[in-house]
Amino acid sequence: MSQPTKSAAASAVAFDLRETDLFAFCRKGGNVAGDVAMRDLPRILAETAADAPASAPDEIFRYTLAGVMREEAAEPGAPVLQRLFLDVTVEGRVWLDCQRCLQVYPEPIDTSMRFEVMASEEAADAAPMDDDELDVIVGAKAFSALELIEDEVLLALPSAPKHEVCPAVHESLVTGADGEVEPEAPPEVEKRPSPFAVLAGLKTKR
Ligand SMILES: [Zn+2]
Repeated sequence: MSQPTKSAAASAVAFDLRETDLFAFCRKGGNVAGDVAMRDLPRILAETAADAPASAPDEIFRYTLAGVMREEAAEPGAPVLQRLFLDVTVEGRVWLDCQRCLQVYPEPIDTSMRFEVMASEEAADAAPMDDDELDVIVGAKAFSALELIEDEVLLALPSAPKHEVCPAVHESLVTGADGEVEPEAPPEVEKRPSPFAVLAGLKTKR
C-alpha cells in the first residue's frame, strides 16, 4: 500500500516548477497538476486591486501541464520530425476594480492553451503563425513553468474589468424604476373649519 506515496514523492522530486527540462518533460509525455499561490506571481499581484481582501496573496491558482510529442513527416518520404507540445491550463481568480461601479470584485480566470515547444529563438521566429489555437514558446533545459503560468494569467485578464452585474447599478435600477418607494402620503389632517369660516361664524355671532 506504500506504492502511491512512493510514486507521488518521486514525481514531486522530478518536477520543479521554476526549473524543469521542458524538452524531456514533453518527450516523455509528462503530466503534472498543482497549486501556485498569488504571492509567487509578482506580476499578478501588481495587477491586483488596491482594495482587494488582505488574503489576496494567499489565493491559489490551480494549474495543469501536459507534455506531448508527435513524430511526423512534412510529406511522405521526408524525414520524420519530432514536434513537442505543452498543454497548459490555469484556474483561479484575480481581484480587480470594476470600471462600471469602481468596486473591487474577483475576476474568474479559466484559461487553457497549447504551445509548440521550439528548440531555439530562431526556430520559434521561423515557425508559421497560421494557427490561432497554437502559440510558440522556446523550450529550455531549465524552463520556468511558473513564469509561463503567470504569463497565461496576465493574458487572461480583461482589458476592461467589469462585474457581470454590478451590485450598485443593480440596486439603483431597482429603486429608480418601478420599485421606487413613494414618500408616504401625509396622514389625513383633522377636518378643521377654515379660519375664514371661523371668522364668518364670529361675525354672525355679533
Ligand atoms: Zn461593478
